[in-house]
Amino acid sequence: MIKKKRFFINSVFKLSLFLLFNQISTAKKLYAKTKPKVVVLGAGFGGASCISYLSNFTDLIDLVVVDKNKWIKTCPFSNLVIGNLIDESNITFKPKFNKNIKFVVSEFKFIDAERKKILFDGKSSLDYDFLIMSPGIGYKKKQIEGYSVDDDKNIPHCWDGENKITNFKKRLDSLENNCKVIISAPDYPYRCPPAPYERASMIANFLTGKNIKFKILIFDSKNSFTKKNIFLKEWKEIYGNSIEWVSKKKGGQISRFEKKKVFNSNGEKIEGDFIHIIPEQKAGKIIFDSKLCSSNWCKINPQTFQLSNFKDIYAVGDSVDAGDMPKSAFSAESQAKILSLNLINRILQKGYLNPVFLNTCYSFSSNDRAFSITSWYKLNTTKDKIVSLGSSQSSEDGLNNERIRESKEAFGWYESITKTLYG
Ligand SMILES: Cc1cc2nc3c(=O)[nH]c(=O)nc-3n(C[C@H](O)[C@H](O)[C@H](O)COP(=O)(O)OP(=O)(O)OC[C@H]3O[C@@H](n4cnc5c(N)ncnc54)[C@H](O)[C@@H]3O)c2cc1C
Repeated sequence: MIKKKRFFINSVFKLSLFLLFNQISTAKKLYAKTKPKVVVLGAGFGGASCISYLSNFTDLIDLVVVDKNKWIKTCPFSNLVIGNLIDESNITFKPKFNKNIKFVVSEFKFIDAERKKILFDGKSSLDYDFLIMSPGIGYKKKQIEGYSVDDDKNIPHCWDGENKITNFKKRLDSLENNCKVIISAPDYPYRCPPAPYERASMIANFLTGKNIKFKILIFDSKNSFTKKNIFLKEWKEIYGNSIEWVSKKKGGQISRFEKKKVFNSNGEKIEGDFIHIIPEQKAGKIIFDSKLCSSNWCKINPQTFQLSNFKDIYAVGDSVDAGDMPKSAFSAESQAKILSLNLINRILQKGYLNPVFLNTCYSFSSNDRAFSITSWYKLNTTKDKIVSLGSSQSSEDGLNNERIRESKEAFGWYESITKTLYG
């Protein structure tokens, strides 16, 4: 009986392989003269993950990746640079894509969806058959009164991997004994839900290294946050009473900023020596400049990642509304896998995979201490939303060796993903 079953499974497996190869060769014949051109916007986590998966199919498609930056500076682990755990060079990569993938360093200025054309500065342009967009985040126009996202000199945010960390650290380094740091954390959704709290930990680690007394006040536009109990416990144990979190209902929402002071929604004035506002976010700017999205985040078909209303344009990563999935590098990679495989299925005229997604977010509280949350996702029954299947989190009473083990796992994840994506 078991043998019969195995024979049946083997035959079905061989038949599907035969059909797959048959379809690939039919598709190759179909596109013998002109392979479809797939252009990927952005070599960050979503874009580079698509490149990594699609690079297995370059006999079927032409692959071009475009990024405005030659060097990619990652947001994951940028907090660790702020905390002096690692150096900025450890999060900076010059991508080494396969030779048969064209890497163009240039900035998209406009996507002409009707003519399937991308316009750069001047007269240069690029045609595509399929476009995958992963431009990360942009910023909402209306921010806290008196605050501008562009004022990097006075109030740097360091939320998008640009070259701002040196300036941010200079500002921290100029702080003196008994200084006060104010962090304003935005409401959901924003890039990397635990990152504001990891940032507070890393600022504390930096200031502890300077051997000065400090107070960090986190003013939050929310009443809770991910891994809250672990963060609160870690802060107490490592930094005593130096980090304080203020919920929205206790006056955490900041409504106005002036040099060296903020005002909360109750009208209270709070003065600080270093004010760090994490701005309100939306999808990458190019998406709005090209009129491809009418709300803050791109609406997509969550099985294919095809943009609603634009059949040959796909979007992935932080720019999309991915239902219950948080905006993280881990999520972007998980989504990119499904997008890439289902794009190949579309080209091969095969059925789509029914996806399952995964996300793990590690956070550091100090040197060698990390904890995580892992969640699984699938499509809802109507297949129009990504919904959570459940999650598992590090224990709140984690022993030293558990936190140390998780910090090693976090480094393992980071090294492995950046090596896969950037060589
Ligand atoms: C402080 C901080 C810590 C974080 N830590 C973690 C972590 O530990 N784990 C985790 O999983 N996630 C983490 N994240 C989240 C993670 O950085 C993002 O979720 C991830 O980068 C999303 O990938 P993406 O491809 O959407 O965007 P990005 O990785 O930002 O890539 C976008 C790319 O598009 C390019 N681009 C944009 N516009 C244009 C244009 N017009 N023309 C050409 N190129 C363009 C940009 O140069 C960039 O390279 C963190 C984020 C922050 C801010």
